[in-house]
Amino acid sequence: MKVLIAEDTRAIRMIVAATVANAGHEAIEASNGIEAIEAFKDNGSIDLIVMDAEMPEMDGFDATQAIREYQEDDWVPIIFLSAHDEDDYIQRALDTGADVYLKKPINAVQLLGQIKALERIADMRSKLSNLNLELRNVNRVLENMARLDGLTQIPNRRSFDERVEVEIARCFRNQSPLSLMICDIDCFKQYNDTYGHLAGDTTLQKVAKAIEGSFHRATDLVARYGGEEFVVLLPDTHVNDAFRMTDNMIGAVEKLGVPHKSSKADVDRVSISIGVASADGQTALSKTELIERADEALYQAKESGRNKAVLSDKENCNE
Ligand code: GH3
Ligand code: MG
Ligand code: MG
Ligand code: MG
Repeated sequence: MKVLIAEDTRAIRMIVAATVANAGHEAIEASNGIEAIEAFKDNGSIDLIVMDAEMPEMDGFDATQAIREYQEDDWVPIIFLSAHDEDDYIQRALDTGADVYLKKPINAVQLLGQIKALERIADMRSKLSNLNLELRNVNRVLENMARLDGLTQIPNRRSFDERVEVEIARCFRNQSPLSLMICDIDCFKQYNDTYGHLAGDTTLQKVAKAIEGSFHRATDLVARYGGEEFVVLLPDTHVNDAFRMTDNMIGAVEKLGVPHKSSKADVDRVSISIGVASADGQTALSKTELIERADEALYQAKESGRNKAVLSDKENCNE
């Protein structure tokens, strides 16, 4: 254990430190309340405190209270030492946050006994803190999992729904454009019918990675919107710049070279169609309207032959 000893009388401090060291613990010494608080904060992992009541600069009562306030959700055991043993004195020490009250002169056997008893609390504390750490890590993993699509391992619909709200708000606050793409695999029903659902799953994974690989900014979001549809959210991106990127995406999917002999598109490989729309940050536009515009553009892309991108006709294309 790391034991912090706050005691202004050097001789007593040395006796306590020797007792602590003999019991196999590390002693950290302070000679008043202020030093004790500093040592407590600096060391971070103090397991036990032996606190003298009367000290110059700041006494043990105030130091104990400050430590309790500093560590509201944790509990380091504190042994209080005092020459007084009046009831109201003991009561005040316990009220302030002391766990054990020992009267001076110090009885080494009693002190050792108390240190041993409080060692169990220190043990539990460290187990609890390790458990908490593990729990926090597990929660982080779970939280990430809840935002990832199980099949493609890219962000899922929930991830998109959360981000799009934030980005639309930011778009109008900063008056910066926000572009949205909806991508849909062409004739995917026929693909499944021809090659089987398992091959369909593998292809979905490849297409997801190909689309994701077409974007590099940390703020860009590629997510699986559902089924064989993907969304791309591009903050700070003018619709014309977004539209220019669709060539890359379509090329990346074509380059996968996944055969699709029953496709109605102009290729015999798996391809995607894309609808692009944007909010310019000036004219009010809801999340639903933005998605509807991209969806309408996607529909146009499908209608006019697939394997292409179409810009929403509601866009003002002047840069
Ligand atoms: P279009 O070019 O007009 O988009 O035609 P389509 O056949 O792709 O469109 P449709 O909406 O008729 O069919 C989508 C297909 O995507 C149907 C469904 O079985 C398939 N699909 C959706 N999710 C999955 C999935 O997780 N795995 C597989 N293998 N197929 C999926
Ligand atoms: Mg003193
Ligand atoms: Mg679809
Ligand atoms: Mg489709």
